[in-house]
Amino acid sequence: MNTLKNNLLSTLKNIQNFEKKHSIRENSVQLLAVSKKHPAEAIRTLYQTGQIHFGENFVQEALSKQDQLKDCSITWHFIGPIQSNKTKDISNHFQWIHSIDRIKIAKRLNEQRLSQTPLNICIQVNISEESTKSGVLCHQAIDFAHQLMPLKHLKLRGLMAIPQRMSDFTQQQAEFKKLSDLYRQLNNSGFQLDTLSMGMSADIEAAISMGSTMVRVGTAIFGERKIN
Ligand SMILES: *Cc1c(COP(=O)(O)O)cnc(C)c1O
Repeated sequence: MNTLKNNLLSTLKNIQNFEKKHSIRENSVQLLAVSKKHPAEAIRTLYQTGQIHFGENFVQEALSKQDQLKDCSITWHFIGPIQSNKTKDISNHFQWIHSIDRIKIAKRLNEQRLSQTPLNICIQVNISEESTKSGVLCHQAIDFAHQLMPLKHLKLRGLMAIPQRMSDFTQQQAEFKKLSDLYRQLNNSGFQLDTLSMGMSADIEAAISMGSTMVRVGTAIFGERKIN
C-alpha cells in the first residue's frame, strides 16, 4: 500500500489504541494532519483515504495548496504564528485557527472575516512558560478568553499548546495536564469549550491520556520535513 495511506491508517489505529489504553471514550480524539512543507498531491492522497482536517503554518504555502485542491472539501486549520499583514488571508481561507494569543490580531481577524459563519479559534497557551514560545501564559488565559467574547465573527472553541520537547512520558503528561486543568477551569467558569488541541507525533500518547480532543500530527504521517 501507498506509504502515506499506510501512515495515516496506523496513526488512526494508534489513536484508537491509546483511547482504549487510557480509558478515554472511543472517537473522542480527532486527527489534524499537519501538511506544512508537503505538497498538495500528498494532501490529496490522504483526502482520498478519508482525512478531512489539514493544518498549515505558512499562509502563502497554504493558499497555493488550497488553490490546487479546490475540488476537495477539506477543513483547513491555521496553526502557525500570525503576522498582522496576513490576517485578511488567514481569516478568509481557513475554518480554524489554533494560534490566537494577541487581542489585536483577534480583532483584525474578526473585522476581516467576510463569511457569516464564525471562524473557530483556539487560544494558544505557553504552558512551559518558555520565553521564546508564542502563547498567553496560563494565568492570563481566562482574562484573554473574556476579551475575545465580543468578537462575533470568532467562535472560541478551545485551547492549544506546544509544550517543551521532552522524551519522558510522565513529564509530557505533567505538561499536558496544565492545559487540561486550564480547559476545565474555563468550562467551569461559563465558557463552552469543546476542543483541546494538544499532542504531536512525538507525544501523542501522553496528550491523549490527558484528555486531548485533537492531535496535530505531521511527521508520523508525511515523514520528515526538509529543512526549508
Ligand atoms: C509542525 C507542527 C505540528 C506537527 O509536528 P510533528 O512533530 O511533525 O507531528 C503540530 N503542531 C504545530 C503547531 C506545528 O507547527
